[in-house]
Amino acid sequence: MPSLQHVVKDLLASGAVEVVIGYEKAPGQNRTRPFFARTPEDADRLVFDFSALNNLAVYLTRQKRPAKGKIGIVAKGCDARAITMLMQEQQLTRDDVHVIGMECSGVTAEMGADLSKDTLAAKCVTCKVQTPPLADTLVEGPKDYERPDDRNGARMRELEAMTPEQRFAFWAGEFDRCVRCYACRQACPMCYCEQCVAEKNQPQWIETSATLRGNIAWNVIRAFHLGGRCVGCNECERACPADIPLGLLNRKLGMVAGQEFGYAAGMDASAPTLVGTWDKSDRQEYIK
Ligand code: SF4
Ligand code: SF4
Ligand code: SF4
Repeated sequence: MPSLQHVVKDLLASGAVEVVIGYEKAPGQNRTRPFFARTPEDADRLVFDFSALNNLAVYLTRQKRPAKGKIGIVAKGCDARAITMLMQEQQLTRDDVHVIGMECSGVTAEMGADLSKDTLAAKCVTCKVQTPPLADTLVEGPKDYERPDDRNGARMRELEAMTPEQRFAFWAGEFDRCVRCYACRQACPMCYCEQCVAEKNQPQWIETSATLRGNIAWNVIRAFHLGGRCVGCNECERACPADIPLGLLNRKLGMVAGQEFGYAAGMDASAPTLVGTWDKSDRQEYIK
């Protein structure tokens, strides 16, 4: 299989794409950062390793695209699901992008750490898309690693065992720390509304100051807006300065979508969206 640099050089030299969104090594640091390669020579700056944390699909939403023409993008499996979801929601057409799918053995939870069982991101422990489900070119890489216990699975079972009152108290305690910076929204490829509900004031749906009531409203409404759409990249949780376990909340909604409707977000660009379709045979029991 060709290397990432060869693929990108060919795409840019042939004019097949205007730009390739990928990762470069951050100078002097054990981490990568997003990089836009615009010339064949730029391709030599691209890297891909366990520190390729960012979900670059965030740059593909209509307001943020770095080029008018076709865009190349380096995508791990979880990122490819976000690209697919953007196609399902008509934010992108299949012809708008050339997806360079990276076979992926996992990334670290935090920038700067070396990869180990302890530092492996929680999303990678249960990952089923180490080979991206969407790719125009596939770049081979290691796919297997020793997986630690599913720490988020254990936390989920603890939460599920709680009474509704205990669960509310748990989440109220977490949301109390929210400073309403909206970093979660900015990092999320599926949060692309031109005007977010958090900023609407006629009517005002959500208190804008960081009060517990407003924080609960913001986080619960955002979670519902991501129901059946979240692809589990966990960028929102990584961006959160208050360490709120947003991944746990989003994972639960994804589990409900799977259990109730057999639906997984971002796995098939031709599939209808979960919230945009209705069928007489849909289960109704959960609406109580
Ligand atoms: S969730 Fe899967 S595709 Fe995404 S970084 Fe982890 S191992 Fe790679
Ligand atoms: S809600 Fe979080 S985990 Fe889900 S797609 Fe957005 S950033 Fe990724
Ligand atoms: S990133 Fe964290 S602190 Fe900031 S708005 Fe989102 S949940 Fe609140």
